[in-house]
Amino acid sequence: MKNIFGYKYEKLEEELLSINEKKFRARQIYEWLYIHKEYDFNKMTNLSKELMNKFHNHFKTDLIKIKKTQESLDTIKFLFELLDGNLIEAVLMKHNYGNSLCVSSQVGCNIGCSFCASGKLKKIRNLETYEMTEQILLVEDYIKERIDSIVIMGIGEPFDNYDNLMNFIRIINHPYGLAIGARHITVSTCGIVPKIEEFANENLQVNLAISLHAPNDKLRSSIMKINDVYNIDTLIKSIKAYITKTNRRVTIEYVMLEHINDSLKEAEELGNLLKGMNVYVNLIPYNETNSINYKKTSQNQINKFYEHLQKMGINVTVRRELGTEIDAACGQLRANEVE
Ligand code: SAH
Repeated sequence: MKNIFGYKYEKLEEELLSINEKKFRARQIYEWLYIHKEYDFNKMTNLSKELMNKFHNHFKTDLIKIKKTQESLDTIKFLFELLDGNLIEAVLMKHNYGNSLCVSSQVGCNIGCSFCASGKLKKIRNLETYEMTEQILLVEDYIKERIDSIVIMGIGEPFDNYDNLMNFIRIINHPYGLAIGARHITVSTCGIVPKIEEFANENLQVNLAISLHAPNDKLRSSIMKINDVYNIDTLIKSIKAYITKTNRRVTIEYVMLEHINDSLKEAEELGNLLKGMNVYVNLIPYNETNSINYKKTSQNQINKFYEHLQKMGINVTVRRELGTEIDAACGQLRANEVE
């Protein structure tokens, strides 16, 4: 028996056919779950009693639980307890253009970036598709509002859980359900090159963000050990191929670590590396954590770095800091729960 929130539409149709039911039931089920937010088959009133029972016995509808929330002015951090007791987090950000939810893709993370507190807990397991979908459903239910955009930048490396990630994206993007537009979905990866290539072939308008964080191999390897597997040259080649294939602009994330990667020499190198590519650089002010020694770059230095890139003709923005006061910012998730 599988959880209903893990079925992408076509899979649900197949499943229904396999139990001798009509394909169009998939649309009814999707609308109940994702539009009416009715998760009890016995209350899906356009189904016969017999069908209600059959579906009830065939699909699980278990939900993960909200264990704790922490709110600040424009952010809510959700701690979820999974059915097996594992904990993950998601963060709601209220922007003036709508609600955005940052979801987790794994319990823990194996990438081991030196500056990231979320990754201090080694990966315990991948999230199942339904566990990703339910993060959205539970938050929508909690805030009684719709979520407009999704960033897959919580705990975990999404491309290390590729199949479940793709299922999840297809579920939330489906027009009969949550219908979150592909352009409102962003996947962030540390740069798993073979998966970037696969992603390019998915024929989706989903945004791709790459955690680059350094303009040369020596520096990048010293803060992101994944660089020893896929170095900058390999990574940049795969990003270029992705852009050629999809015609989509890619986001380059660059976390600003004081005296580590934030000098104008690095800005210059970064500008040269990215010159002519259809990318924009998102400078991320570092969120300091108790357990890690890096310091955040001063606003003044961020501005200089920003201006230098701009002068070189690179599109660049600085990420707005949200959630720092409740440890809900990038790289801070679950750090406090673990200790
Ligand atoms: N594993 C994925 C997505 C999760 S992290 C990835 O690597 O892209 C989302 C972003 O936050 C990444 O760019 C990550 O490098 C960055 N980040 C991690 N720790 C941070 C911190 N303490 N302050 C600011 N950004 C951080």
